[in-house]
Amino acid sequence: MTPLLRFAPSPTGYLHIGNLRPALFNWLFAARHGGRFVLRFDDTDTERSREEYVRAIVEDLAWIGIHPHETARQSERIALYERAARVLREKGLLYACYETPDELDRRRKRAAARGLPPIYGRDALRLTQGERAELEAAGRRPYWRFLLPNFDSDPFQTRRSEVVWDDMIRGRQTVDLASLSDPVLVREDGSFLYTLPSLVDDGEMGVTHVIRGEDHVTNTGVQISIAEALGYARPIFGHHNLLTTIDGEGLSKRSGALSLRTLREEGAEPMAVASLAVLTGAAGAVEAVPDLAALAERVDFSAISASSARFDPAELWRLNAELVHALPYEAVEGQLRAMGAPESRARAFWDAVRGNCGRVADAALWKAVVFDEPQPAARAPQDEDFLRTAAGYLPDEPWDRATWKLWTDALKEASGRKGKALFLPLRRALTGLEHGPELADLLPLIGRGEVLRRLG
Ligand code: GLU
Repeated sequence: MTPLLRFAPSPTGYLHIGNLRPALFNWLFAARHGGRFVLRFDDTDTERSREEYVRAIVEDLAWIGIHPHETARQSERIALYERAARVLREKGLLYACYETPDELDRRRKRAAARGLPPIYGRDALRLTQGERAELEAAGRRPYWRFLLPNFDSDPFQTRRSEVVWDDMIRGRQTVDLASLSDPVLVREDGSFLYTLPSLVDDGEMGVTHVIRGEDHVTNTGVQISIAEALGYARPIFGHHNLLTTIDGEGLSKRSGALSLRTLREEGAEPMAVASLAVLTGAAGAVEAVPDLAALAERVDFSAISASSARFDPAELWRLNAELVHALPYEAVEGQLRAMGAPESRARAFWDAVRGNCGRVADAALWKAVVFDEPQPAARAPQDEDFLRTAAGYLPDEPWDRATWKLWTDALKEASGRKGKALFLPLRRALTGLEHGPELADLLPLIGRGEVLRRLG
């Protein structure tokens, strides 16, 4: 059977690196097993869902290299959820409730005061037809709860009822349905909460594997029991640990600094972001993997740790630099040209400077140093004679990588200088800086005429 995986974001914000984790786990699993991947927008919350975020999510995933085989929106599939709700109602498994949030809150507090867990007591099930009609005549509209199968014949006598599954990531998992309140599936206004649409879609689409954050473990217990009542096949589940910042704080949609958009704007390479999102919080090393195919090979669900996946944003820039240093000219040609690097020298320029770039955009600094005016050099008065001598020893063109050594060997002999005293004044005069790419590489790029000018 062809595996079918899905990533189901709510379009209520921009994707951040933590959201990318499940997206990639699903995408990479599908890629590795010849499967398909559906991008499914959980957009039944019409208040908070925005078209702008739908577009941004598609764009951000494409930037990473995730190109869904199919895209779906829950807002266009409401009829399916209504049908499922009808089936559950007919089976007596979806019942109307009328308590207000205040009433529920008071009950929870009373239970807590008596040392009882805050589980909904199914009071609405005791309402007679007449009482319900009265409530509705008074303008109360019901919301609907699923009757969890956690009792033998009397719903007020619950008993331990385990839902068990072999989780791809966490191993055997058990959720006791008697420890949970009957979940609300339909709001007063008839709209659906996340729980039902998600499992209906998984069932209707034939999703074979559901990989998502461990914050959904309890949901899974509930969703399995509802899906069984509706006759859907059970997918294989995997729940991964959640990315958190270094001090253990969760990443919310509002953590804009770590949104894929912002990272892209700041010059992050997609594979640096992807490598970090996937490899953090597992047994192996977190390193920059060059492409998604290689990353797919690295995913090992059994190596994902049970604790949270902490990461330090600084780590991202370390991975980024590793990747940028290895980028071939072809990958950056467009960006270099846009910076104004002259076409005939752009390849040699990139090879000279990439080791000094933490992001491709950093090449703009070196482009200015090599091809435009360097920063005004801080020249020490005692170096002036030396620089004049240096100009006199400049070899004739054509120049190549060996020119620098020829020149400085001759200068060493003529001036008696060596090491820092020999090289630093030259670097300062030629680049205006104390550090940078190898001057052997820069010299031929700057060219004889300009070198003379800078020495003068
Ligand atoms: N919209 C849900 C979330 O973002 C989807 C969870 C799921 O994968 O079922 O948490």
